[in-house]
Amino acid sequence: EAVETTIVNSDGNHKSSVGHTMLAPFTTGWQQTETEPLIIQKGEGVYVWDSKGNKYIDALAGLWCTALGFSEKRLVEAAEKQLNILPFYHSFWNRTSQPTLDLAAALIDLFKPVKMGRVFFCNSGSEANDTQVKLVWYYNNAIGRPNKKKFIARQKAYHGSTLVTASLSGLTSLQKGFDLPVSFVLHTDCPHYWRYHLPGESEEEFSTRLAENLEKLIIKEGPETIAAFIGEPVMGAGGVMPPPATYWDKIQPILKKYDILLIADEVVCAFGRLGTMFGCEKYNIKPDLVSIAKALSSAYMPIGAVLMSQQIFDEVANKSNELGGFGHGFTYSGHPVACAVALEALHIYKERDIVAQVNRVAPAFQKGFKDLAKSPIVGEVRGIGLVLAIEFAADKTTREAFPTKWAVGTYFGGQCAANGVLVRVSGDIIMIAPPLIISADEVHKMVKTAELALKETEKYVSEKQANNSNVHA
Ligand code: PLP
Repeated sequence: EAVETTIVNSDGNHKSSVGHTMLAPFTTGWQQTETEPLIIQKGEGVYVWDSKGNKYIDALAGLWCTALGFSEKRLVEAAEKQLNILPFYHSFWNRTSQPTLDLAAALIDLFKPVKMGRVFFCNSGSEANDTQVKLVWYYNNAIGRPNKKKFIARQKAYHGSTLVTASLSGLTSLQKGFDLPVSFVLHTDCPHYWRYHLPGESEEEFSTRLAENLEKLIIKEGPETIAAFIGEPVMGAGGVMPPPATYWDKIQPILKKYDILLIADEVVCAFGRLGTMFGCEKYNIKPDLVSIAKALSSAYMPIGAVLMSQQIFDEVANKSNELGGFGHGFTYSGHPVACAVALEALHIYKERDIVAQVNRVAPAFQKGFKDLAKSPIVGEVRGIGLVLAIEFAADKTTREAFPTKWAVGTYFGGQCAANGVLVRVSGDIIMIAPPLIISADEVHKMVKTAELALKETEKYVSEKQANNSNVHA
């Protein structure tokens, strides 16, 4: 039996049928119950307003993507200009458009960790990572190693939600009910030191253990069957986990040793988020392939891309000559309006030195939030640049969680929203990744709001604990 959902809009009486007509991504609750969705109506700078007129700092920059905030006129003008000149052309069969070519050249120029050779365009991070799998398979077929097809990803990774990328993602919530993961995907350890280190183990020792586990997995499966390793420089949606010291230094030689390609999923990290233009720069990662999306256009248009080494491109080109064409692409691969907007975003990142801007505000951002870790109900605050997570825990040392039904994270998120800051809540983990243009004052405001929300959450937890001990007394 269907549950009636009535949504009252800002005029107080107009009934929208949103609740009846949409299957919303990653949403449970409001579609099945009478809880109404938060309708975001407008944005300016780092702020958004809901349909009731409430104003919030959007502390997750949409979905880690509106790097330049919600009212960058130059991006709007770039879109309008391109829409007037040429609203669409595809990039199939040796036809393309100028903004597409220009953006490819700009990306090759911008990516410094290794010299990249070519760019493939798509519409999202999921499509970029899906393309990675196909490219790597095609490449290995081209160079005569058809058995080298398995992928290694990490537990708690997020790489997207298509069949293959949900499988690469190390989050069971993406796989339950979908008969996933697919069989060629293997998962290795999540590099989250606080959660997984052994008593007395240093960060370096933890990294060594994880590298050894990776090598054991490769040997067990047979190196001749493992095609690639995919990883986010800093894990994002799984809970913001910057790598422990020496992690990438120890992982990369093992991949080299067994001739396993390294794919850097830079969908969240690229374009300044960590205080470097790309996440690879921060950790001296030398990938063979890179995925980007999100801040590539500051999210004003959907666009994603794969950067590949010249060598991979050459082999793929050889194979497609042999097969009579490269059989992969999307109608909107290299959409000229998306490319024009992305090009303008790249110009703005350079002109305003977005990396320097992040490094100006990041210290106060990190310190302000990391001070919250003094609270007895906070297990860990972790982050780098303009991204961090607060994780609640009943016990800091044992990392024991609060009872799920207390919904401590949801309570904290509600307190933040009531005080004008929208954060991401994932269980008892709070994620924060504001637009990169955020000012020192706005950072201060977010921190103060979080402090207030934390005080309220401490009271809430104390009440729960008191009730609990009464029950047990
Ligand atoms: N890779 C990473 C690291 C992501 O964080 C995301 C999305 O959050 C994706 C891939 C998937 O991107 P999209 O949602 O654009 O498909």
